[in-house]
Amino acid sequence: MIRIDNLNKSFGSLHVLKDISIRLEERKVLVLIGPSGTGKSTLLRCINYLEKPDSGIITIDQFSVDAKNHKKNEEYELRARTAMVFQNYSLFKNKTALENIMEPLTAVQKIPKKEAEGQAREILEAIGLTEKADSYPSQLSGGQQQRIGIGRAMAVNPKVMLIDEPTSSLDPELVGEVLNLLYKLAKENTTMIIATHEMAFARHIADHVVFLDEGEIAEEGTSEEIFSAPKTQRLQQFLRKFE
Ligand code: ATP
Ligand code: MG
Repeated sequence: MIRIDNLNKSFGSLHVLKDISIRLEERKVLVLIGPSGTGKSTLLRCINYLEKPDSGIITIDQFSVDAKNHKKNEEYELRARTAMVFQNYSLFKNKTALENIMEPLTAVQKIPKKEAEGQAREILEAIGLTEKADSYPSQLSGGQQQRIGIGRAMAVNPKVMLIDEPTSSLDPELVGEVLNLLYKLAKENTTMIIATHEMAFARHIADHVVFLDEGEIAEEGTSEEIFSAPKTQRLQQFLRKFE
């Protein structure tokens, strides 16, 4: 179970996240939707303390970190339970596809190189890029690079994958392969929190949807509730833009 209780975050005088509380069962997919600048990325970054919340409690599987009262090492322990996938892949340019996936295993988890390589090859197969093991990021398409980014996140076997706009920097023809990989992970019961502007994708992959508007949860519900029967005017207006 992932729990966020009363999370607040400001940048100076800008109150970006206002008292956010969310629950997510293991093996489920939560999708964050909402207008640009509404705090989706900030929320994802707060969950693993890439951004420090001002207040609130994050709990992943019984392990809680209270923004107001915790030790520094607890932030690292929390982060170790998560893995983040970024919009711009953030791969190591001087490492091959295989080495990029091995990196969190050897550098963070201190797994011996041989064993890490075996695990990384299994992941390459799962993401359909076995034949690109020795390619460098510059030799891969955007979609392939993003799949490697997702493979890196898979490697650490996180309790929850935090995925921010996984396709927004891709050419349209490359979007499908990345979405298909995420559908596959969802089917395999990977716990994920995904921020996206792709409404059709959101609708299909989400178990639960949170609509953030101006930093607060304006509406939430199942995928069916949110997309077929939105209750608030704010959500109805937001969804109309995608029709
Ligand atoms: P988008 O859909 O465009 O990705 P978003 O919902 O992810 O938007 P955030 O990136 O979380 O929005 O930004 C929320 C607000 O916080 C914005 O007003 C943004 O300008 C502000 N913000 C984000 N990061 C910082 C920062 N490091 N310093 C100051 N302001 C920030
Ligand atoms: Mg964002």
